[in-house]
Amino acid sequence: MARETKEQKRERAARIIDALEVAIPEAKIALDYGNELELLIAVMLSAQATDVLVNKVTPALFARYRTAADYAAASEEALREAIRRIGLFRNKAKNLKAAMELIVREHGGAIPRTREALQTLPGVGWKTAGVVAHHAFGAHAFPVDTHIGRIARRLALTREEDPDKVERDLCALLPPERWGRAHQLVIWHGRRTCIAQRPQCDACPIAADCLRVGVKAKRVSKQR
Ligand code: SF4
Repeated sequence: MARETKEQKRERAARIIDALEVAIPEAKIALDYGNELELLIAVMLSAQATDVLVNKVTPALFARYRTAADYAAASEEALREAIRRIGLFRNKAKNLKAAMELIVREHGGAIPRTREALQTLPGVGWKTAGVVAHHAFGAHAFPVDTHIGRIARRLALTREEDPDKVERDLCALLPPERWGRAHQLVIWHGRRTCIAQRPQCDACPIAADCLRVGVKAKRVSKQR
């Protein structure tokens, strides 16, 4: 097969996202939140934890602490207790308090609106910052998680393992206004169909554009 040109790869990427939109129009962020503060906290808590578990813990947390100042004034111990069902809760409680203190001190209690500013908060990496900036403030971002990295490699849209480099490659294939939606669609595709250990290629809505259709998962999938 002839080597794919950059233009052909862009067209294929666009077809993939179009097909996913048709197949899973219901794809949306699975974390429950009512405002940007709650979104930031839910995303921080979701690192290496399921969205389902985070959604079980956050209603009581959000009812008790309503502003960044509330979290900043809380003891680390109280925050630990409130989120102790979630993995890495000690670190997360520490980061949560430190992030809220910084938001109160540096931003007057308001959540920073850019990905760059969000990333300066303790416990907030580039991926978390991208998710919050996109969903809360409409920023163009294509944060790369485990699902997206795996699928991008299976689709031969990147060869990179590093999430930041995968994001760079994906962003080069789609216009900025499609990045955020594509991020959500590919995550859902990874949860439902292009599963790490047993991709459902026979039922895949983008098989026609997948160069690895029928792939043996263990050979090509490297979970981070
Ligand atoms: S054809 Fe298989 S490997 Fe390719 S995207 Fe679909 S499920 Fe994943």
